[in-house]
Amino acid sequence: EPLILWFRRDLRLDDNPMLQAALETGRPLLPVFILDPETEALGAAPLWRMGLAVGAFAERLAGVGSGLILRRGPALPVLERLIAETGAAGVIWGRQYDGPSQARDTAVKAALKERGLIAQSHAGHLLHEPWAIKTLQGQPFKVFTPFWKALRNLPLPPALAAPKTLPAPTTWPVSDDLASWNLGAPMRRGAAVVLPHQTVGEIKALQRLADFLDDKVSAYPAQRDLLAQNGTSRLSENLTYGEIGPRRIWHAAALRRDQGDAGAESFLRQLAWRDFAWHLFYHSPQMDRQNWRGEWDAFPWAGDSALAESWRQGRTGIPLVDAGLREMFVTGTMHNRARMVVASYLTKHLLTHWKVGLDWFADCLTDWDAANNAMGWQWVAGSGPDAAPYFRIFNPEGQADRFDPDRAYIHRWVAELSREPGAEARAYFDAVPKSWNLSPDQPYPKPVVGLAEGREKALAAYGARNA
Ligand code: FAD
Repeated sequence: EPLILWFRRDLRLDDNPMLQAALETGRPLLPVFILDPETEALGAAPLWRMGLAVGAFAERLAGVGSGLILRRGPALPVLERLIAETGAAGVIWGRQYDGPSQARDTAVKAALKERGLIAQSHAGHLLHEPWAIKTLQGQPFKVFTPFWKALRNLPLPPALAAPKTLPAPTTWPVSDDLASWNLGAPMRRGAAVVLPHQTVGEIKALQRLADFLDDKVSAYPAQRDLLAQNGTSRLSENLTYGEIGPRRIWHAAALRRDQGDAGAESFLRQLAWRDFAWHLFYHSPQMDRQNWRGEWDAFPWAGDSALAESWRQGRTGIPLVDAGLREMFVTGTMHNRARMVVASYLTKHLLTHWKVGLDWFADCLTDWDAANNAMGWQWVAGSGPDAAPYFRIFNPEGQADRFDPDRAYIHRWVAELSREPGAEARAYFDAVPKSWNLSPDQPYPKPVVGLAEGREKALAAYGARNA
């Protein structure tokens, strides 16, 4: 009797605890990926990028004598049908921690157990389970630094090597054809423009980690905030689909740290923010929809509007803000410093609700991560735990002076500001939908809300709230 391996956001052979547990049963293994309603609810770019991850993983599995069965529909009936077709002994999977996935998995587990089938879930997506780290009072953490101190000292088992072969079932059930799912259909931007910026699959993710540690980690503290530098690991793209496991990253970087590389320590601390975000999200599953601190519910943020639309289009007339939004549109990612600046401009200068920005990121980012995105937005808006104080309003000009002193990042992305714009700045105009009616020959817009004016309005609104 085979065992079904239900892959979701753990599309790798390396350091995959559920795979290890499955191998230990000695059974033939049947890897499956299900396009269920929870997955179909993804924004356009993450859904499209998920398809790339699934394709690469299917090839990886073929390389170890296995394969990946693709099925579509609500998970439980799909799994039950597969069990009926193959006589499988049950299902094993790697945990996810957002509300809808948890509800789905709880129901699947209960239904399978009731029938006496194997139904097992394993860790693997985070360094530590969200409930494993607690304050001395046994409560979840709300502040990062003490969380980091606790996490840093927690023992972490070594990473597991990828198996060389997987025992295959004697017959394979039929599989959907990945192309027939047409996961790129909702993309508003030309997928062909975004594709060259993706680094897909576990082999490339592991290489990316190795290159980063060899070439960049030592300079990480000095370089990570510089907008025009490629000074960070860019592993968020791979982490979100589980093309690499955080534990593999942790041990590799910790080795460098133990050899005396202080850059590696700073990188590890950053990696722990991801665990912190999931810790918060697990304990507050509404974090992507509701103010983490309820007292913000009365704050007069505006909803969607023409101002928000100019922000989405990267046409606010504030060069650094537009550069960040255009970078995201073309590449599916955005420098962390720019994420903070564009989020601050939307929630403070434009006094627009953080959910408007969160939704746009969820549609555009190929490294979209439900917890990191929600924590990031609430941190900048001021409504989150451990958030920036309300008077912390990023000044895009000051940020550009500090982190893009020669304006290389701005010029890379904003064609209208260069006499001879480069390929990346021009790519933005190939990527945008026709309905936006944009061309690089149009004059660069005047600020939709000036920096001084916006700052004053925001301070007045935020100050009144705090009075
Ligand atoms: P590195 O600097 O190389 O860091 C290594 C890893 O540590 C990252 O891959 C990431 O997993 C983690 N990490 C680093 N910084 C943060 C952080 N501030 N919060 C949480 N984890 C962090 N990150 C996402 O992965 N997906 C998102 O959807 C997302 N949305 C964001 C929205 C806003 C408004 C803000 C301010 C931040 C958001 N972030 C998000 C966090 C951060 O911008 C990215 O994780 C980072 O830019 C990824 O680049 P990197 O992999 O090169 O990071």
